[in-house]
Amino acid sequence: MTMAGIPDHDFAPGHLDRCQVCGSKDLKLVVDLGHQPLCDSLLTTERLNHPEPTFPLRFLVCRSCTAGQIDHVVDGSTVYHPAYPYRSGITRELASHLENLSRDLGKLASLKAGDLVVDIGSNDGTLLKGFKAMGMRVLGVEPTNISEIARADGVDTEKAFFGEDLAKRIAAERGRARLVTATNMFAHMAGLGSTIRGVRAMLADDGLFVLENHYLLDIMKTLQYDSIYHEHLRSYSIRSLIVLFGFYGMSVVDAHRVSSYGGSIRVVVSPKKDLPISAQGSALLAEEADAGLAGDDVWERFAARVAKARVDLLDLAFDCLKKGIPFVGNSCPGRCATLINSTGIDRSMMPYIAEQPTSLKLGLHLPGKHIPVVNNEILARTQPEYVLLLAWHYAAPIAKYLRERGVRSKLVVPLPEVHVLDV
Ligand SMILES: [Zn+2]
Repeated sequence: MTMAGIPDHDFAPGHLDRCQVCGSKDLKLVVDLGHQPLCDSLLTTERLNHPEPTFPLRFLVCRSCTAGQIDHVVDGSTVYHPAYPYRSGITRELASHLENLSRDLGKLASLKAGDLVVDIGSNDGTLLKGFKAMGMRVLGVEPTNISEIARADGVDTEKAFFGEDLAKRIAAERGRARLVTATNMFAHMAGLGSTIRGVRAMLADDGLFVLENHYLLDIMKTLQYDSIYHEHLRSYSIRSLIVLFGFYGMSVVDAHRVSSYGGSIRVVVSPKKDLPISAQGSALLAEEADAGLAGDDVWERFAARVAKARVDLLDLAFDCLKKGIPFVGNSCPGRCATLINSTGIDRSMMPYIAEQPTSLKLGLHLPGKHIPVVNNEILARTQPEYVLLLAWHYAAPIAKYLRERGVRSKLVVPLPEVHVLDV
């Protein structure tokens, strides 16, 4: 605890022994995936000749505030290395989601031309382009080299990790922001306290902070254990977010589900104290209580379902290997490293993972099992019997994409149950 009775929310690399949100030590171990490599540290052919670092990967849920979390922090500069390959603009579904988001949020925050919008973890600037087109002043904050793609595209971007000091400098130089956004980033930061203090310092009194993140309740319901990886330090419930922002005198005023990343929430936070949450936010809180997120039963069932899903997928891969039936992967989102490595599928069972021709991952190898990532033109040319959809949260649009390109293979979805798509 700090002087003000707030748990320390700025985490040093290494093991954590208490809840990242409320500081409780009453944590339930749900899934232990052993030691795993970082899911977005793909390897060049040359790197295959060297040792590969691994880190503990365990998923726990706090019995007090219901925050899901892992208990090991990998240093940010190791996770978000300069060659970090994720780029939001290249997933068509995500790009169109971000374009819609800028319109929705512009209305929500009653933004006017000239208002400042800051996006934390702005990636290639896709979201900010929408605000810029509406006449707002925009600033991205992005620590990786992808910030250079945003700058080249005309989106003003600070190449830095976001934190309190940077936020104060931004506010001094540009005035305070009417809107601060963090899409799929708020679960990732080790400097959570510095981030929230920074948002608070940068935000106008009538401004709003909007975050989008994967949602613990949906991870549980749709068995997204492949969302457990080192980048995802936390998986929030609404209840845990109310606790978290409450420490800083801020209020969660709205929360609702959105479709990005297969089960996400959009949460709106005001810098003002003790404001009530909306009706749809209350409905989600009730859903969380009904599901029993704070109890052990629901998580023991989750762990049993995870074990079965792993065995079923390995069964299919092994059966194909025995019978000489080609079984390959399609798409290489970060989460597929958890799925493949925890299942035990290796190159003998899955000779390659096919990715779209513009992917930054082509020519590299999946961490852990070292399956090569190749251009997806191979699918139509060779028509393998089974194609495992590793970005299964986008199964429908990806199936459509593959069929349009003449891929006739059986398309397999790995979770929540292994099944072949009827398309
Ligand atoms: Zn907690």
